[in-house]
Amino acid sequence: MENLEAKLYCPKCGEKATKFYVHTVKGFKYIYLAHYVKEEKKCHKWYCDRLSEDLLRRLWSLGLEGCGQNITLERSDLEALRKFFVRRKGYTEWEKKRAKEILDKMCNAVRVVVTIY
Ligand SMILES: [Zn+2]
Repeated sequence: MENLEAKLYCPKCGEKATKFYVHTVKGFKYIYLAHYVKEEKKCHKWYCDRLSEDLLRRLWSLGLEGCGQNITLERSDLEALRKFFVRRKGYTEWEKKRAKEILDKMCNAVRVVVTIY
């Protein structure tokens, strides 16, 4: 990952990136950078690099936030995960489906935060 600093600036307008997201193409994951443009009511987005642990750490350390990756888990979701992946028994078809769905989402996420109320 050479010269990340130079890639932080928008090729369209020169503004610095404020967030990043992961884009998956044919199973490969790439990091795109973005910043919101008030006047255009949309984001400018551009390619950064292949996804790697190192790159994610560097982006976080620069204060950039990953976007579009929020997963909200309910107590019943956690119960589904426990039944299907930990206990391996006593789960319903719905719980099995939900557990697999959650795991799949987590695998595609940049960071997973679980908050229990
Ligand atoms: Zn821009």
